[in-house]
Amino acid sequence: MGGIADRLARLIDNTGPISVAHYMAEANAHYYASRDPLGAAGDFTTAPEISQMFGELVGLCLADIWARAGSPAQIAYVELGPGRGTLAADALRAMGAAGLRPPVHFVETSPVLRQAQAERVPNAHWHDDAGTLPADRPLLIVANEFFDALPVRQLVATESGWHERLVTHENGRFRPVAGPRIGTEPIPANLRAAVPGTVLETSPASAAIARQLAQLVAASGGAALIIDYGHAETAHGETLQAVVRHDYADPWINPGEQDLTAHVDFQALGEAARAEGVRVLGPAKQGDWLRSIGIAERAAALARYSPGRAEEIAVARDRLVAADQMGTLFKVMVLVAPGWPDPAGFA
Ligand code: SAH
Repeated sequence: MGGIADRLARLIDNTGPISVAHYMAEANAHYYASRDPLGAAGDFTTAPEISQMFGELVGLCLADIWARAGSPAQIAYVELGPGRGTLAADALRAMGAAGLRPPVHFVETSPVLRQAQAERVPNAHWHDDAGTLPADRPLLIVANEFFDALPVRQLVATESGWHERLVTHENGRFRPVAGPRIGTEPIPANLRAAVPGTVLETSPASAAIARQLAQLVAASGGAALIIDYGHAETAHGETLQAVVRHDYADPWINPGEQDLTAHVDFQALGEAARAEGVRVLGPAKQGDWLRSIGIAERAAALARYSPGRAEEIAVARDRLVAADQMGTLFKVMVLVAPGWPDPAGFA
């Protein structure tokens, strides 16, 4: 072991097993702070890195609701976890063509990725968390593959009821164990009955950020597009996974050296946001949403412009929308301010 693995092992030796959320938070903070994980040469590829069409369609969707809201002069573009800044650069170009040139605010903790973002979007303002985002104007907010990286808590059912799952270590390997018994309060009523061994994940960090975004939008106007992989309804099951060099790995080894993610629970995010006074639309399947806002037309236009790239453009389009690729597992949910129009694609 080395680095963060040693640090977590010492912490466990000194203070006892830690929560799964603590393990995931420490591992991902180190992981993202120490590298650019995106793209073919990295660990995983995201929709904006597959094709410019993704960011452009997001930008057009936002420009469209801005126009239908009466084109307010005071507005800002906000992105959480912007990666290399690719989505923002593509979205801002498309918004600019539609007459919208907002100031840009990024919520990003990784110094390495902030550097990459500054190369694509030099005039952005950076924030450590959503707490310092502007509260004096409507916000057009985007979070793509951001919530899946936030820590999840795992609860595990045993004969004696539900227990918090904790992480211990042995011979250089981390290992999940059933910790103290908890009450049923954090568990939705329809999910309390479960066979021993069943795992339920909740993400208090994700719900807190959804609430924060909803409060900002409810108070000042605008909308928040949340795009990620996950399930429309809260469900039993362990989804925590590690990915390294485009392959699945054991999440309980090498913390901080591989990407840890979990399925996003859109029902939980939606409920947290709705309680703050926004409308929640979706989640729609990414494939359906991109088709309904014009990915076929955008792909055809790009192919006309660069006939030599027609095949590559068609392959990228299919990766984004096909049911067996990103089209069904990835979902799009939007939080809309009272008085603001519904974004396209959520009929
Ligand atoms: N949205 C980008 C990158 C997704 S990877 C894309 O689609 O390509 C996850 C992003 O979230 C990275 O930029 C990572 O540094 C950032 N991130 C992860 N945890 C974070 C946290 N707790 N606070 C702020 N940013 C975080």
